[in-house]
Amino acid sequence: MNLILMGLPGAGKGTQAQKINEKYNIPHISTGDMFRLAIKEGTQLGLKAKEYMDQGELVPDEVTVGIVKERLSKDDCNNGFLLDGFPRTIAQAEALEQILAEMDQTIDSVIHVNVPEAKLVERLTGRRICPTCGTAYHVEFNPPKVEGICDKDGSQLIQRDDDKVETVKNRLSVNIKQTQPLLDFYENRGYLVNINGDQEIDDVFSDIQSFLEK
Ligand SMILES: [Zn+2]
Repeated sequence: MNLILMGLPGAGKGTQAQKINEKYNIPHISTGDMFRLAIKEGTQLGLKAKEYMDQGELVPDEVTVGIVKERLSKDDCNNGFLLDGFPRTIAQAEALEQILAEMDQTIDSVIHVNVPEAKLVERLTGRRICPTCGTAYHVEFNPPKVEGICDKDGSQLIQRDDDKVETVKNRLSVNIKQTQPLLDFYENRGYLVNINGDQEIDDVFSDIQSFLEK
């Protein structure tokens, strides 16, 4: 089962990735993990990527794609894989098709955890942090016992600038601009599956499961 997982920040992609990994025993391959592994193993491409990262530069596609290829060739991918955070561009998506073709494989499905933008704003702006102990709360999903007050030390909770409405809306619109072409690309290929992410975590997963087991 060769899968790609897509979804905007706050859509709950990480949680679903973990569930898919546990249920179907395919590795969850995030871009960050992939880079860390290549660097740790000291592969030629890993070292190259590190040079760019150390200088605070974007790792060029040819290096990233090479690292993806190394990762997908590992034994734990024999039953498939779940890619998360790659591809990010059409060029990378085409490179991925090429890599898979060389391995005599294809993508099976692109699972898109879809949550309306307004709901994402609600989720992402609800975070509150205790400035004293760092504990994170959410006004709706994980509220403190007394509104606005840390359970542990009674401090006044704050909202970080990153979690403010305007910042969140900007971050989402940048992400939407980036991912829409990819969603269109995979839709045209017939791989795209839209999963309603605007429901309980277990219900989202059960929708994913019914699709995968169809
Ligand atoms: Zn606290």
